[in-house]
Amino acid sequence: MNQSTNFALFVVEAVLYFTLLTTLLHFRHRIGLGVFLTALGVMHFVETYLAAVFYVDLPIGIVSPGSSIFFAGKLVMILMLYIKEDAATVRQPIYGLFIGNAVTLIIAQLLLLHHTVSLTPGQTADVAFLREMGLLMLWGTALLYIDSLAIILLYERIGRLFPGPTIGRVAASSVLVLTFDQVGFYGLLAYLYDAPAAVFWGGWKAKMVAALLYSAMFALYQAFFRDPGMVLARRPIRDIFTDLTFRERYEDLLARTGRDVLTGAFDRGRMEIEAPRLLRESTERRKALSVVIVDVDHFKAVNDRFGHLHGDSVLREVADELHRGTRTGDLLFRYGGEEFVVVLPEANHADALLISERMRQEIAAGIRDHGGEPITVSIGVATAPEDGANFTSLLAAADNRLYRAKNAGRNRTEGRPDSGI
Ligand code: GH3
Ligand code: MG
Ligand code: MG
Repeated sequence: MNQSTNFALFVVEAVLYFTLLTTLLHFRHRIGLGVFLTALGVMHFVETYLAAVFYVDLPIGIVSPGSSIFFAGKLVMILMLYIKEDAATVRQPIYGLFIGNAVTLIIAQLLLLHHTVSLTPGQTADVAFLREMGLLMLWGTALLYIDSLAIILLYERIGRLFPGPTIGRVAASSVLVLTFDQVGFYGLLAYLYDAPAAVFWGGWKAKMVAALLYSAMFALYQAFFRDPGMVLARRPIRDIFTDLTFRERYEDLLARTGRDVLTGAFDRGRMEIEAPRLLRESTERRKALSVVIVDVDHFKAVNDRFGHLHGDSVLREVADELHRGTRTGDLLFRYGGEEFVVVLPEANHADALLISERMRQEIAAGIRDHGGEPITVSIGVATAPEDGANFTSLLAAADNRLYRAKNAGRNRTEGRPDSGI
């Protein structure tokens, strides 16, 4: 078969690969993302096999469709998935491929220990292939991982430097990453097998042709569907990297859990972790910290008169108002049914009383029940270190004052007896 037929086949393969996988990606909401991801993974296996044994003669040199069409295609697909979804989604195939490769490698080494039998004459296991998979595949797996992260980060970085059309960014990031990949992969081939420089250039040119073909098809796809999802992330690149590598910050993880669903305030479990931590930090830095307990007045009556659902919406309004009254660094918790706790780091007793009074007044002035009656709250305030050295004793002190506020007629804030409120 001559070179131009080979080249025509090469292009047809790239078009087919791109069309099929892009179709699955495009319809992912209808058929599920799993279809696209599984197809990508299966192709990956074929690619590894082809890259090892299947080479063809093209006008640009001897090339492996496995490491150009399939490998380059896979990276472009990973980039497309990122563009259409986000870092947290695209890291799934990145890690899936990485782990899948690692498991295959381990199993291949185990398989080599077998004594195989031949079922039909002439069909024997290709043990040499399994044996060769070792180092080359390990290296390839590591490169693939780096390539996948790099193509996404480059796409974002280039977009910030040259905010042109997406096609330019896709082309530039694939060209750069595939060049890097070729250098890395050829390095090992040269080291292991003394591969000649022609292998490097042939492979590189094939990857470049593939990168440009894919970028062009990507542009066609984009133009055809007038895809609105092709915008740059507005997040810092370091955040994208953090997401890609599963290194969510501890705070981010916490922020997504421990919320009370009704009011959006942090829940009590979260309070038991966060409040003592904030208190410890304040004590170490010899700063004050105040704890505020808020209890809605006659809330049972609101429920009884207007129903539980109305009660719920009043609770949400109270939580919103309390939230508005907090400063950055303050934390709002739902402590019980209609009780909230606000932790105010670096607020001395006078500060805390001021903040609490403001919240109380805003609630009394702004929130009404269905019958038009104002909703009021009673508040107790305690401050470390004077009112207690640990969170439990602070909370107990604040709670005592809350009950004093209730007994004194409700809709009031109580602090230390000498505090003047
Ligand atoms: P006081 O002024 O003495 O605090 O009177 P109160 O009626 O607010 O006191 P109490 O603590 O006896 O009543 C609290 C009520 O809050 C009882 C309970 O039915 C109601 N409650 C607790 N959790 C929820 C909730 O999630 N939604 C609603 N709608 N009501 C709740
Ligand atoms: Mg109560
Ligand atoms: Mg109450």
